[in-house]
Amino acid sequence: MKRDRKLICAALVVVLALFCLVSPVDAWNSHGACTKLIIADQEWLKTYDKITVSPWTYADVDTAEVGPNFVVQYIEGKPGTVTSAAAILTNYADEPDWKMDQDLKLSPFQALTGGSQGWRHQFYGLGWLRFGVAPSRAQYFFDLAGTAREKGDLYWAFRYLARAMHYVQDTTEPYHGVPAPVGIIFKGIGDFSALMGSATNHHYNLEEYQGAMVARSSPVFVAALRNGVPLDISIATSPGWLCRHATYLGRPVVRELWPLETAFFGDSINGKDSWLFDESTLHVADPGTTQAAYDQEISTPLGRMSSYTKTLFLLARQEYGL
Ligand SMILES: [Zn+2]
Repeated sequence: MKRDRKLICAALVVVLALFCLVSPVDAWNSHGACTKLIIADQEWLKTYDKITVSPWTYADVDTAEVGPNFVVQYIEGKPGTVTSAAAILTNYADEPDWKMDQDLKLSPFQALTGGSQGWRHQFYGLGWLRFGVAPSRAQYFFDLAGTAREKGDLYWAFRYLARAMHYVQDTTEPYHGVPAPVGIIFKGIGDFSALMGSATNHHYNLEEYQGAMVARSSPVFVAALRNGVPLDISIATSPGWLCRHATYLGRPVVRELWPLETAFFGDSINGKDSWLFDESTLHVADPGTTQAAYDQEISTPLGRMSSYTKTLFLLARQEYGL
């Protein structure tokens, strides 16, 4: 029995390794657009409507390696410009995807998650195996936000909080917890390139579809993002907890999403070749359709993106008195 489990485990690692060589590492389409909806009910942010952009002065404490092509950008204008907490959170929600985590050698196992960015932005789980460090990245930036806050540097407190938020949000995208339903992985071993192609297609189409529907103000998606309720922070005690818990809840969702994606997008999504749905004909779902059922399924993890983001804010407010 023990030997069987070891064999299954080894098989999964090999499958996952090959699989992830082509696996994308983006998450929900546009963290910024989603964050804008999520923070709409965060009245406390209005207190911070005038924050002066300050230069980055954290080389002594912010020591984690960044990608060789990463450049610190100042979206609102150079240091001295006045901005707001809401703008900082929205503008920098996507910053960890701006080459910050690319082209690094972080772990001998990073190929399992598609490279260094995948390693930092995902938290794959198969059986008892875990690959990726998204939970500790969220914690890392959350702690730096606290350091900036202590120095009275509100600009970097919110910018670091935006980065922590990115990793928490990433882990609520179900395909960031596992690349495909385990049953599909086993079934597909015989035709490996088809398996890789279909997993990539499912991942990309979900994200493109979600982004397109948010852009079209789909009521289901907008409601999911707006109405997330934060968790009790006596249970959800840290950003790392939020990330681990989000992937734990997200993995079973992949099993539900996969067949709905096949039904809604059609068989092309399961093909070997990379395929993307035609966005030009996309419209908000009619009730009772497969699309409506798909929207409903997505709305659960999308609601979690909202809920866990708001929980992160509660933790930040409690820990560094924002
Ligand atoms: Zn990411």
